[in-house]
Amino acid sequence: MKQSVKLIVGNWKMNGLAAGLAEAQALCERLEAQPPACRVALCPPATLIERMARVVAGSQIEIGGQDCRAEPGGAFTGDVAAAMLRDAGATLVILGHSERRHGHGEGDLLVSAKAEAALAAGLSPIVCVGETLDERQSGRAVEVVRTQVIRSLPLALAGGAFAVAYEPVWAIGTGLTPTLEQIEEVHRAVRAAMIERLGLVVAAAPILYGGSVKPDNAAGILAVPEVGGALVGGASLKAAEFLGIIRGA
Ligand code: PEP
Repeated sequence: MKQSVKLIVGNWKMNGLAAGLAEAQALCERLEAQPPACRVALCPPATLIERMARVVAGSQIEIGGQDCRAEPGGAFTGDVAAAMLRDAGATLVILGHSERRHGHGEGDLLVSAKAEAALAAGLSPIVCVGETLDERQSGRAVEVVRTQVIRSLPLALAGGAFAVAYEPVWAIGTGLTPTLEQIEEVHRAVRAAMIERLGLVVAAAPILYGGSVKPDNAAGILAVPEVGGALVGGASLKAAEFLGIIRGA
């Protein structure tokens, strides 16, 4: 399947104070000097979204949130609504990251409800899926990921702008990555599940790979068929390292 321009997304997780905005500024300057061949997004903690959106205003860098609540508002202490992210300057939001699924007990149906809320608020959801090490070792990776895709994508996404990120749980923050053949196998299964769930209209929605992407493995991973970009954690915190990945696209 023909791939359109790739999407490289940096997930800062719970890292970053005001001083960290200098990295976003540096990235802007480097990309302005040499425009990227891909789309680039940064997802800082919610506290930095508005300030980072100002720093990158006028550049190609898109800003995203890392999670949102499914409800539009109300008595949900500590949570953030999709419309609040949009209001702060985000245009994307990561949903169902393994640190939400496993650290906060979030399941597919909740992820689906969040994706629907994000879309309604004008955000493009990046829906994360991925198997655990136990599921991989017992030969169930493809089946687990297929089920997550079918259950986590609301029907409202058909025709909307969104992405799926395949992130093996055991590869996140560990320095381990699947083989390129394993990445291709799962990405093809994700594409088939997306089409099964939403129809051929999703044929162009990017499927990102995430899990220990670094400058030295990025180009190889990004060249795998059906890999439409990368979701990057640790290596997105420093402009120079993130740039090494962006240049691999
Ligand atoms: C992530 O947080 O989505 C991620 C892939 O992290 P890392 O790149 O650090 O493995």
